[in-house]
Amino acid sequence: MSKILVTGGSGFLGTHLCGYLLRRGHEVICLDNFSTSSRDNVAELQRHSLFHLVVGDVRSAIRLEADQIYHLACPASPPKYQADPVFTMETSVLGAINVLEMARRTGARVLMASTSEIYGEPTVSPQAETYRGNVNCWGPRACYDEGKRSAEALFFDYHHQYGVDVRVARIFNTYGPHMAPGDGRVVSNLIVQALRGQRMTVYGDGRQTRSLCYADDLVLGLAALMNSREVPGPINLGNDHETSVGDVAKTIRQLVGGPSQIHFMPLPQDDPTHRRPDLTLARRHLDWEPRTPLVEGLLKTIRHFEEALDIARGDASGFIAEAAE
Ligand code: UDP
Repeated sequence: MSKILVTGGSGFLGTHLCGYLLRRGHEVICLDNFSTSSRDNVAELQRHSLFHLVVGDVRSAIRLEADQIYHLACPASPPKYQADPVFTMETSVLGAINVLEMARRTGARVLMASTSEIYGEPTVSPQAETYRGNVNCWGPRACYDEGKRSAEALFFDYHHQYGVDVRVARIFNTYGPHMAPGDGRVVSNLIVQALRGQRMTVYGDGRQTRSLCYADDLVLGLAALMNSREVPGPINLGNDHETSVGDVAKTIRQLVGGPSQIHFMPLPQDDPTHRRPDLTLARRHLDWEPRTPLVEGLLKTIRHFEEALDIARGDASGFIAEAAE
């Protein structure tokens, strides 16, 4: 059993990770300031005797003890991280320094949740870790993209300069239960809209692609990376099945049923046209790969949102029960 700190532990991925670590018998400290998450996310976890919630901000020094640190704290949805870009940049950079200082002081191994956003608008596909990226360093996404790039640099600087034991995961688009209904990301938006019978917002012409990974798969990848022997650089984690956003919308509409129509809206500035991870390193070093097919993951996510939003499904229930079998 280890004592494990999860920064951002009440967020979407953090909740899944904390639950997984508790099930594995570890003691978990969740550090969160609830800037983009809700206390409801950890209500269930708080019943566990080995779960401890610390309300705090990673922009300040962290005076905790742990054997391992998963550093997830940062707004991650484009509308949320762009709402207060200075806060996002501070969280990325100061947060990285503070968890790295804690790791240096305690000897803990520390894993950083980096992102596919560090590749920007990629000029190659799929994106391997060797690709240096194509980021607009002063556009609306820069606070997150450049913040995470700086954090990656800090992680490797602390490793080279002070010998801190680091792991860096570049996380591609992930979805699943516990996404905040209003967080603005594509899967949560489209499911909530479809369940409410509202217009389903597809930005641009819907031909831009993403590769969507189910949260449970991603958590297994994070744990595999944390517990792996040292790897020389960052590792992509995600799903390499690439889908257009328009097709995701159509699939969700079909799975939910109901009257929703797809409504095209302007594409946000610097929205990447495609994104797909090269998972060669993850498969080779971690013996890990995503397992959940998109429809199966979407069905589980739809079920979660129905409960969270307390929506009666009506006629769509038969279709969903059939598709789930
Ligand atoms: N998107 C969309 N409708 C929405 C929300 C997002 O069409 O309601 C698009 C968005 O423009 C992007 C893709 O879906 O092309 C993924 O967006 P998300 O915000 O989930 O994450 P990103 O990959 O852009 O960080």
